Amino acid sequence: MNSSNKGSSRTLARISPQKAKTFLTGLANLENLESAARRFVLHYGAVFRDELPTSLIYNWAIRGEEEGVVDLSEDQRMWKYWLVPLRDAIRFLWTRDLRTKQWGIFRILEKFFARGDRGLAVGPVTDDVECFWGNSLGLVTPCERIFMQLMQHTSVCGNSACPAPYFFAQRRSQKYCSEECAAPAQREFKRKWWSEHGPKWRASRAAAQKQRRRRITRKSRKMQRHTA
Ligand SMILES: [Zn+2]
Repeated sequence: MNSSNKGSSRTLARISPQKAKTFLTGLANLENLESAARRFVLHYGAVFRDELPTSLIYNWAIRGEEEGVVDLSEDQRMWKYWLVPLRDAIRFLWTRDLRTKQWGIFRILEKFFARGDRGLAVGPVTDDVECFWGNSLGLVTPCERIFMQLMQHTSVCGNSACPAPYFFAQRRSQKYCSEECAAPAQREFKRKWWSEHGPKWRASRAAAQKQRRRRITRKSRKMQRHTA
């Protein structure tokens, strides 16, 4: 395995927390379609290509496909054996507590990015799978930076018809990803409120109007008397 640190350090400067969040929501909301995966790779490939554990992915593909592995292109292997399982790992962590997320981020970096430190391969038995890029962790990579953002307020949209339900919430109480997704629930809330409180509200408004009208008539009569 080789690592291209030059490429990584180039992208490093460009990964803002906002960009990392867009990457993560794009990945979590990724549909089970080859076209969707193609679009994602087209958009974000430059961010993660340098960190792909290519030979490890090939290994997984051989184990999964056996002789059929030759029918898959390199991109197809990557989608099926890396991108989709990575998405599922993210979806799993999306609704979990901080401790599980912390643990999960470490697992993601180890499993999907082959990050690790050979110094930890100790003991009398060392033939367990230790597929790491280098001998040590090295510098923080763009993908490490991206996955750390999972520690933020990840949330799932309360609208069951939402086309992209995985989102980052601005507030803890935020239930919907957007105004559009919140609208049906707001309408339903208003409808319920009206059916429960509407008659009472209308009656009290009618009474208030009647009182106001009475006051106005009394006032105008008084004025008529004054001018007469
Ligand atoms: Zn939504």
